[in-house]
Amino acid sequence: MPRQDLIQADLSFLRELRQDLHAHPELGFEEERTSGIVASLLEEAGLRVHRGLGKTGVVGTLQIGDGARTIGLRADMDALAMPEQAERPYKSRVAGRMHACGHDGHTTLLLGAARHLAKTRNFSGTVHFIFQPAEEGRGGAKKMVEDGLFDLFPCDAVYGLHNMPGLAIDEMAVTAGPQLASSDTWLVTFKGIGTHGAKPHLGKDPITASGHFLSALQTIVGRVVNPLQPAVVSACSVQAGDPRALNVIPDVVEIGGTARAYSAHVRDQLEEEIERLARGVAAMFGIEASYEFRRRIPPVVNQADATARALEAARAVCGAKVVTDFEPSTAGDDFAFFSEAAPGAYVWLGNGPAVDGALHHNTAYDFNDEAIPTGVAFWVALVEQELAA
Ligand SMILES: [Zn+2]
Ligand SMILES: [Zn+2]
Repeated sequence: MPRQDLIQADLSFLRELRQDLHAHPELGFEEERTSGIVASLLEEAGLRVHRGLGKTGVVGTLQIGDGARTIGLRADMDALAMPEQAERPYKSRVAGRMHACGHDGHTTLLLGAARHLAKTRNFSGTVHFIFQPAEEGRGGAKKMVEDGLFDLFPCDAVYGLHNMPGLAIDEMAVTAGPQLASSDTWLVTFKGIGTHGAKPHLGKDPITASGHFLSALQTIVGRVVNPLQPAVVSACSVQAGDPRALNVIPDVVEIGGTARAYSAHVRDQLEEEIERLARGVAAMFGIEASYEFRRRIPPVVNQADATARALEAARAVCGAKVVTDFEPSTAGDDFAFFSEAAPGAYVWLGNGPAVDGALHHNTAYDFNDEAIPTGVAFWVALVEQELAA
């Protein structure tokens, strides 16, 4: 049976699986039910299964023939802590939990590919199907790597896939270079001397200092970073004083935010420059500043050879409907920890038009089951082409 017919034959199973996962969302490192389903379906298909990397992570291994090459394919399994507000038969059954990023779809696609490849066995080499926990800001990929993912399962290349509303369900985007930004957080605390609001000269006002800091913050991107290099610095939280005490200048102002970049150099610049401004402003006003920059996720930058192979697979499935000049996203994905360990490529799979304008992380978002055949066929084509028998 040709590839597409075989995938079609499994489609009703995969659609039901996807909707079942959607109805039972689990947060990062809590994917007990999901990882149980993943592990048992992989075992049922005849794969060797390893559980427990990154707590709820699952790796299924399929080795066929005597090919020496090994590749890793990644799907994320976690949902988000937010309520689902659209009505659908398979709406989340857990209050305040929702698959709003389509990871239910990613898990289904990779399981579909594993089932297909275990049946057809039309390649020679080793595939590790990596089901990671906690992609949504909880550090699942890093934890899997720290737990020995690539010591136990070395890979010559790794691949990741994410759904993308706005691209058609038979469309994919594959581009070399930056895909997703680094995602780091920073915290500045200005410590002055609190005093009566009527007698500012008797204290050291950290609120006025904060105003100068915030207005100078965008000069990092505007005046320091190379204008040809994208970067984002956002202040997302300011905590100080009390609206019930409008005659009190507080001791402390806490400001926090995010910093994004696509290169290691710009990432370093953002870390250094935010601190320089904070300390400079503090010195200017005679107060103290403390600073913390938390490095969370490196950027996802597609390696040229891995991207060329992913592009070939996408073209085998989508023909001319592969977009090769797709804009990178300023969001992050901890797939970056996998693609730091082996040459990697991260591709986008069309999810169809944004229904009612709902994009990723919207309370009405949903993975589009019509994209399942394209997604499964992409993974299958990638394995069969890269590990050609
Ligand atoms: Zn997300
Ligand atoms: Zn996501």
